[in-house]
Amino acid sequence: MQFSKELTRLSAQAEAALAGRFAEIEATAFANTNRVMDAFRAHRVSDALFQASSGYGFGDKGREELDSIFAELMGTEAAFVRHSIVSGTHALSIGLFGLLRPGDVLYSVAGKPYDTLEQVIGIAGNAGDGSLADFGVSYRQTDLNADGSFRTEEILNNLKTTPQIKVVFIQRSKGYLNRKTLSVEQLEKLISAVKALRKDVYVVVDNCYGEFVEAREPGHAGADLVIGSLIKNPGGGMAECGAYLAGTARAVELASYRLTSVGVGVEQGATLGQNKSLYKGLFYAPHTVAQALKTALFAAYLFEKLGYTVEPRWDEPRYDIIQTVQTGSAEGLCAFCRGIQKGSPVDAFVTPEPWDMPGYSDRVIMAAGGFTQGSSIELSADGPLRAPFTAFFQGGLTYESGKLGILSAAAELAAEQEKEKAK
Ligand SMILES: *Cc1c(COP(=O)(O)O)cnc(C)c1O
Repeated sequence: MQFSKELTRLSAQAEAALAGRFAEIEATAFANTNRVMDAFRAHRVSDALFQASSGYGFGDKGREELDSIFAELMGTEAAFVRHSIVSGTHALSIGLFGLLRPGDVLYSVAGKPYDTLEQVIGIAGNAGDGSLADFGVSYRQTDLNADGSFRTEEILNNLKTTPQIKVVFIQRSKGYLNRKTLSVEQLEKLISAVKALRKDVYVVVDNCYGEFVEAREPGHAGADLVIGSLIKNPGGGMAECGAYLAGTARAVELASYRLTSVGVGVEQGATLGQNKSLYKGLFYAPHTVAQALKTALFAAYLFEKLGYTVEPRWDEPRYDIIQTVQTGSAEGLCAFCRGIQKGSPVDAFVTPEPWDMPGYSDRVIMAAGGFTQGSSIELSADGPLRAPFTAFFQGGLTYESGKLGILSAAAELAAEQEKEKAK
């Protein structure tokens, strides 16, 4: 790829300005790699743990040790990690159905959860599908303040007056919303306040895109159940599929009864030769997350200088790997995604088009040219076709390739602007 003089100059300017931020990111990656390696050593990770099991998978040592290692890294008592959980949504569904009973209230305190959860909760007009609502679980929500902070007083008041609240749900990352991502420190403050008032509620955190961005996880902040996808951060770009749930022993046990069946829990589950890529992915994860963060910062700087509104800005703290760029038009969003696609290692020759993706209420355009289908720790961009036509982008297995992808997106957006001007 060849880029304009202007982009090449901006690119060098970006890297000079970002040197300090890059050093911070590398320091966190070092701290997290140290945690991972300490856990691997303590759990005596060896070739024997990479062996495949089949059938029921009873006594699969590799699976059992990986569960314990995840628990340790996530700051929780227990965990399970399975290649057989098909997605983050599936994992969240397992967790929510595991904890909630008829008559209970699910209370989301960071605004509307991720689009795909609407059908799980039963607020998408999907009565009869077997959602939580069909099983008598109701739903309540409190939005974040405009500055991204929790409405703590309102939340505590609702917990006081509604004893039926069983799960307090917090989505850490912004997802498809134009809001800020929550830090572990923010979570910790809220969780302490919630627990001081109601020890009986489970705090469930959707941790998607947040793992290893900080040196602490929501489990260290007192969350009862922390959930995420392996084709995002903690799979390190190596895991081929899967997800994890980590939390208190009881919350994890209840969730495990939804993973398999009541009574069986985590005792079964053949790993079919997937263990090695899950271990290897976890080993890479802190480093890979750092590559994605550097790519996001590079984009934040570049697109801001090109006149776009970006979030977070390059000099702001960040708590997930997502970067948004407001493209301002459907054409702009599509151009951005075309550029990312062109700058990907796989499928660089295809053109992404908007489509009605199951589980999402607006049409969505996605650019993804990764080695693992749908993996968003690999460079990928997507966004629903609704104003302000925000491109949500994340990933980059290596900073070098991520940078190329971002430059390609900038070039494609510039070409689209030229076309608009000519009209
Ligand atoms: C990706 C994501 C999910 C859902 O994960 P899928 O694997 O796409 O089903 C849920 N919540 C957040 C915040 C996410 O980023």
